[in-house]
Amino acid sequence: MKFLVPFLFLPTHGPVHKTPSPADEVCLTVPTATSTLSRVGDWHADPKVLLCAHGPVTFARAERAISYWKRLGYAFQTPREAAQDSFACATGKVPYNTIMIDIPSQSFKMGKHIGSTRTWRNEGTQIFKAKIEIIPAWGDSERILEHELGHALGWNDVTHTGHIMNGTWSLGGYNSIGLKK
Ligand SMILES: [Zn+2]
Repeated sequence: MKFLVPFLFLPTHGPVHKTPSPADEVCLTVPTATSTLSRVGDWHADPKVLLCAHGPVTFARAERAISYWKRLGYAFQTPREAAQDSFACATGKVPYNTIMIDIPSQSFKMGKHIGSTRTWRNEGTQIFKAKIEIIPAWGDSERILEHELGHALGWNDVTHTGHIMNGTWSLGGYNSIGLKK
């Protein structure tokens, strides 16, 4: 089992990636942002989106971010809010074929990141689950959930100013060039 840990940084810290956090999965090297878009993989089935209770984003915010990607041709199953006692959210174990959205776990580097996303992949390029973590205070901010959903869909950070996949929040924007499916 593998995952990538691309991070979105606070503007003051620049576009530098941290090393992957320790976990029970095998870590891949985190790629640094490049000038051309690159993608680690794709989903073989439309992902479910699971919002943990007391998570960083509202249902409406999640739907807005999903719409951004739907307009680009990506498909999702209807998002769902997890029960208060959700096993997946309590344990951090993401169900199969799901993008789970929650507040930062213990491995999250507070003070350096706004959000982070891990993807788990089969056979190198087939994504079968992803976990997005966002600091609650930033949950409603522009572009952050859209950016992290981009990582969940397999896209890496790019250095293009104004692009949704720019890993530095202050240099990003809604530009989606190259992402259309
Ligand atoms: Zn990023």
